[in-house]
Amino acid sequence: MIIDCHGHFTTAPKALEIWRQRQIAGLTAPELAPSVSDLQISDDALCEAIEGNQLRLMRERGADLTIFSPRASFMAHHIGNFETSATWAAICNLLCHRVSELFPDHFVGAAMLPQSPGVDTRSCVAELERCVLEYGFVGVNLNPDPSGGHWTSPPLSDPYWFPLYEKMVELDVPAMIHVSTSCNACFHTTGAHYLNADTTAFMQVLTSDLFQRFPTLKFVIPHGGGAVPYHWGRFRGLAQELKLPPLQEHLLNNVFFDTCVYHQPGIDLLTHVIPVRNVLFASEMIGAVRGIDPETGHYYDDTRRYIDQAALSAEERHLIYEGNARRIYTRLDARLKARGL
Ligand SMILES: [Zn+2]
Repeated sequence: MIIDCHGHFTTAPKALEIWRQRQIAGLTAPELAPSVSDLQISDDALCEAIEGNQLRLMRERGADLTIFSPRASFMAHHIGNFETSATWAAICNLLCHRVSELFPDHFVGAAMLPQSPGVDTRSCVAELERCVLEYGFVGVNLNPDPSGGHWTSPPLSDPYWFPLYEKMVELDVPAMIHVSTSCNACFHTTGAHYLNADTTAFMQVLTSDLFQRFPTLKFVIPHGGGAVPYHWGRFRGLAQELKLPPLQEHLLNNVFFDTCVYHQPGIDLLTHVIPVRNVLFASEMIGAVRGIDPETGHYYDDTRRYIDQAALSAEERHLIYEGNARRIYTRLDARLKARGL
């Protein structure tokens, strides 16, 4: 079985984007603000959006199941206030839930949180609980920078985040550390801000005792871990200077990396440097990089090809494709087992 731990609903019907634009317009002109019931998307429209896009590509590329969350760049937690984010997150999560109900063999949800800069993270707990307990979601996306590129929140090791971690631990759901759109002109959203955030989050937890405090807390760092695998020696050396335990012991029971790296040498490096037990298959499809690589003739985000061609044993490949995801996303494993898988 091939589990893709990182997919977003980037192809939602246009009505969603139009509703969001009205919500944003309503922040300055309240008479324009839409109600939740103004958004009407039929099951047929959802099926069409999935069948012709994500599901078609999953079938072509041989992926079975995608952990599916709302479009990351549209989370835009910096817009409006908590109420704005709460309404928007609820709408986006419900759509992913409906997709998972329409295609239960192929999609399972991961939640977007109603984060808002400076707002107590306790405010996000209710939506997380709803998504996990009512919708059957198996993970959550946690934005370490809800300001959208200005980094106004404390680091992930700060008690600011602990109410969320306590709930994640209680529910046993891992967080993918995932920023949203950049509203800082210095940082391109998917080319810089995403990768910066992956690297930044890793260093934040490296310089902390977060996982001593929360031994069962699990973070998936997407996009291959940003700069982390490439600079693994630097991180090991910094940890050593800080008299921290070796990274394997200090972080690798809790931190995992996905395979959203869009070329063979990147995947070769990732799987060589990072223990295979810490690498999860993912494509972030349909996402940031949608073109065909002229050097290979294949889509950049067809990441399965790179895993198939990497120097890995069958057992290692199985861990990356299925075993690690089932070990880390325990609720997913339970769901699959309940269906005899
Ligand atoms: Zn993503």
